[in-house]
Amino acid sequence: MLHLLHSLRLKARPSFPSSLSPSVIFTRSMASIDLRNALSDNQSALESQANAVRQLKSSAAAKSEIDAAVEALNALKLEKSTIERELHALINADGNGEGSGNKEAFRQAVVNTLERRLFYIPSFKIYRGVAGLYDYGPPGCSVKSNVLSFWRQHFVLEENMLEVDCPCVTPEVVLKASGHVDKFTDLMVKDDKTGTCYRADHLLKDFCNEKLQKDLTISSEKAAELKHLLATLDDLSAEELGAKIKEFGIVAPDTKNPLSDPYPFNLMFQTSIGPSGSSTGYMRPETAQGIFVNFRDLYYYNGSKLPFAAAQIGQAFRNEISPRQGLLRVREFTLAEIEHFVDPEDKSHPKYSEVADLEFFMFPRQEQVSGQSAKRIRLGEAVSKGIVNNETLGYFIGRVYLFLTHLGIDKERLRFRQHLANEMAHYAADCWDAEIESSYGWIECVGIADRSAYDLRAHSEKSGVQLVAQEKFSEPKEVEKLVIAPVKKVLGQAFKGSQKNVVEALEAMKEKEALDMKATLESKGEVEFEVCTLGKTVTITKNMVNIQKEKKKEHQRVFTPSVIEPSFGIGRIIYCLFEHSFYTRPSKAGDEQLNVFRFPPLVAPIKCTVFPLVQNQKFEEVAKLISKSLTAAGISHRIDITGTSIGKRYARTDELGVPFAITVDSTTSVTLRERDSKDQVRVDVEKAASVVREITEGQTTWAHVWSTFPHQSSTATDE
Ligand code: AMP
Repeated sequence: MLHLLHSLRLKARPSFPSSLSPSVIFTRSMASIDLRNALSDNQSALESQANAVRQLKSSAAAKSEIDAAVEALNALKLEKSTIERELHALINADGNGEGSGNKEAFRQAVVNTLERRLFYIPSFKIYRGVAGLYDYGPPGCSVKSNVLSFWRQHFVLEENMLEVDCPCVTPEVVLKASGHVDKFTDLMVKDDKTGTCYRADHLLKDFCNEKLQKDLTISSEKAAELKHLLATLDDLSAEELGAKIKEFGIVAPDTKNPLSDPYPFNLMFQTSIGPSGSSTGYMRPETAQGIFVNFRDLYYYNGSKLPFAAAQIGQAFRNEISPRQGLLRVREFTLAEIEHFVDPEDKSHPKYSEVADLEFFMFPRQEQVSGQSAKRIRLGEAVSKGIVNNETLGYFIGRVYLFLTHLGIDKERLRFRQHLANEMAHYAADCWDAEIESSYGWIECVGIADRSAYDLRAHSEKSGVQLVAQEKFSEPKEVEKLVIAPVKKVLGQAFKGSQKNVVEALEAMKEKEALDMKATLESKGEVEFEVCTLGKTVTITKNMVNIQKEKKKEHQRVFTPSVIEPSFGIGRIIYCLFEHSFYTRPSKAGDEQLNVFRFPPLVAPIKCTVFPLVQNQKFEEVAKLISKSLTAAGISHRIDITGTSIGKRYARTDELGVPFAITVDSTTSVTLRERDSKDQVRVDVEKAASVVREITEGQTTWAHVWSTFPHQSSTATDE
């Protein structure tokens, strides 16, 4: 098991935001006026362009003309959101503008730093971007790859999971069986005039939140009603949602036009597989289905033994109606999913005792319903009291807690919230979300669900292939059983090459279906029977299958395993990590605030930087030598031989979250600086790389290094 983290000696965290000089405030207010003017110009242009589109559509103009006008309209919308974002940043940075709050100011500072340092970039930016699509830039890629490799180590390696890698393009039949084709929808409303789409529940949620936050005149009864509505939004049908939208007079946010009634919109991106266009496919909305459809082979690979888990990391695609909140709600994202298959009659876990004593914030259903807040609970207590349904689910909740906190998620801003009865699918035994608090509020980052046998049963039924496990008995047991015995010879003569499909479908029949077939065969002599794998109905005659109840000695129990599914939204975890790691501190001169990401070495995009103190050939040679040793030790690092002041170079790397810096100021020894404390020790040149390797690999701590090596005063290195 990997427990790489070690305590870095931290000084008190500087707070945000800082106070600003009058000249900065003046410049900002001028910029704010400019932006407001630009916004007002943009609004007029937007309205007249929307009119133009409407006119072209009603006069049945040429498609190319309409397309060009719509493209111009979209460009204006994008421009609007950019201006609004800049204006918000400005208002919030003042810390006293209207609608500002520390949270927004903090978020803006984080997002500006992330985008400026290319942690992430709006995709296709030079073509004005596409909402809900983001690229990871160089430091973002490193952070993501560090998070994923820790995920593999903490889960896949630790539990001997079977990792698979399945295609993103998925045939329709798979997602029909899983229920995504029919039910993976959000309710959408359209601007009656422009056709712009909005997520209906988001509009209602925004309305309720705004009323609760800004309208100081609403009665306590009304406030209670709005809060109740917010808590039960997921429960509302299309009709109920539509009625509320009408009751509150909610209109399209951009144009104030009336809205259509809500209707379901399927979130999957549809495509076709092959050139004929006749085979429908979808970009997978989750990676789990790839594991379920491989269950039979994976079970066999595992020596036909339960429990076992399979895991998959990969892209998921959801055509979100209104992507928002940066990386938190996007249209393509990385999921890391585990499907742990277990006997439904024994959900104990051999390593449960390793996590049972963990104590952290849990928010059980009961506390939510009675209006209490999350509280610290010992995991073992939650399981033994039945608050968490079973040991295996509890085990994974504990492992997810360890995973997130090792990455650097703040324990105080992490809670495990149980799904309310109305949130859970009818087949699920219990569900908990790991929620992380960010400037956007509490965000679901990992879902941990006991999905019972639903998924395997659904695929067994649709495919006709039995996705089951067996338990061998030590002594045979006598049981009354329905026996379905297809007569293969007769079926072979009738169905030739399709015989196998028909046999498998007959054997997969449930008891009621089989007894109905028996009754029909006895009364009519034949029956129409749907074979899904053939995509058609065939005629079964009496001589093709024997169906009867028999007393049998059984040597084994055959059952469909339950599945416990922890599902990690990697982008959401990374964004929360960015927020939890960010802080600012004043520069030495006190004239500006410097940004720092306090990533643990495990996550940091680069582990170490190497600087010659001044431009000098001998120092550069030493720096190159240390760089070579770091490369040999597999430690990611950067050399900076620019003539910039060392203080500026430290600031640049602090902003990337680089935990250690080696400064070459002599040919025999160097200084090693830790990012958060800014403390420095002096280390021999030959030892520098190995000390950094030992700290970043968790074999020692900075505290130990600090107590072992001579201290170096920071003034000598201009900080
Ligand atoms: P779900 O299958 O809806 O429970 O989603 C599994 C996980 O994926 C969630 O816990 C989120 O962390 C993440 N997720 C879901 N939708 C999105 C999205 N649109 N953008 C980013 N992450 C998402």
